[in-house]
Amino acid sequence: MTVPPGTPINLFGLDRAALRARFAEMGEAPYRADQVMNWIYRRGVDGFAQMTNLGKDLRTRLGEVFVIHPPELITEQTSADGTRKWVLKAGEGQAIETVFIPEDDRGTLCISSQVGCAMDCSFCSTGAQGFSRNLTTAEIIAQVWFASKTLGGDFQHDRVISNVVFMGMGEPLANYGEVLPALRVLLDDHGFGLSKRRVTVSTSGLVPFIDRLREDVDTALAVSLHAPNDALRDELVPINRKYPLAELINACRLYTEGKDRKAHIVYEYVMLDGVNDAPEHARQLARLLAGLPAKVNLIPFNPFPQTQYRRSPAGRIRAFADILKGKDILTTTRKTRGDDIDAACGQLAGKVRSRQKQRLRDIPVKAVGAPAPRHARGQA
Ligand code: SAH
Ligand code: SF4
Repeated sequence: MTVPPGTPINLFGLDRAALRARFAEMGEAPYRADQVMNWIYRRGVDGFAQMTNLGKDLRTRLGEVFVIHPPELITEQTSADGTRKWVLKAGEGQAIETVFIPEDDRGTLCISSQVGCAMDCSFCSTGAQGFSRNLTTAEIIAQVWFASKTLGGDFQHDRVISNVVFMGMGEPLANYGEVLPALRVLLDDHGFGLSKRRVTVSTSGLVPFIDRLREDVDTALAVSLHAPNDALRDELVPINRKYPLAELINACRLYTEGKDRKAHIVYEYVMLDGVNDAPEHARQLARLLAGLPAKVNLIPFNPFPQTQYRRSPAGRIRAFADILKGKDILTTTRKTRGDDIDAACGQLAGKVRSRQKQRLRDIPVKAVGAPAPRHARGQA
């Protein structure tokens, strides 16, 4: 993102390398940058005056160059099951959603990476809103900081948020340049310090960016599969027409190769009544994933206004899961959480002024998702 000269820089937007570089320009030692990050992410501080291990002069100068700018809350809701949803302002007339899901052994924060989404998956409420813009790194990280602060507790010990998943609004790998520094802040010991298995990027399958992610950072990956063959996946997840299953599965294979033995990819599969939930689909899926370090997560479809789909009945989901388990594929069925406040998977709508002229489903998928050649890319 280009920032006009003189505009204060939101510190949520800088990973450690970028912050150290700024400090070097100011003639400050790199460890000072680490101290500032510790204050923000480990101590939950949002004012320079509170950063008492920095000299007074430095604090004053920091206040001239930087801001720590939390998001503006529009509304907040809590579900009967304890799930919390925040609607946060994303510029004039627009909003994104962030969801916290408490469980016995973990607390998962589901964050957004874009205002809307251009991928146009036919069963997704965000997709139905169209696409407006990418979130900045600062807007992505600010969601995590804001939720940590709001949920209370100590940022360093007994964390309330133990896991972060990019499963809110947007396709994170279509906003790679802003998502990558955000991942670094989440994983950095001076940032949120989350473990690499507890930060998950979920993608509809942007193959070139799966390859780049593998090279750039070590983090968990979830792939939204939803269909075991190209004909059906073309219809449900239109980006499949650009990156068909053979290419996607190959990228997934490479992603886990060379990682430790615990690394596996979670394949998400939404259960749509009469569409992708037949026993034959389960058998095809088992063949597709045979031999891969894979776990399948079945997601009962969450309805939203104007959808043409229905959720598969529980018995059909169980039968589907049993076939996969019978083929030795680890399979879980996601519990529906927060649907009374429209906070369940695929229900996040936010407020999007779509700039998308055409729907991905209706056009030849050419221009979407190809990264610039490496030499042409700026510093992430
Ligand atoms: N764009 C990314 C991440 C956000 S969606 C992706 O698609 O992976 C998070 C998950 O919710 C994805 O697996 C998505 O396919 C699924 N999902 C979307 N709409 C849904 C719905 N209506 N019911 C259940 N799951 C849905
Ligand atoms: Fe976008 Fe994911 Fe929804 Fe598809 S499922 S439209 S990629 S947010």
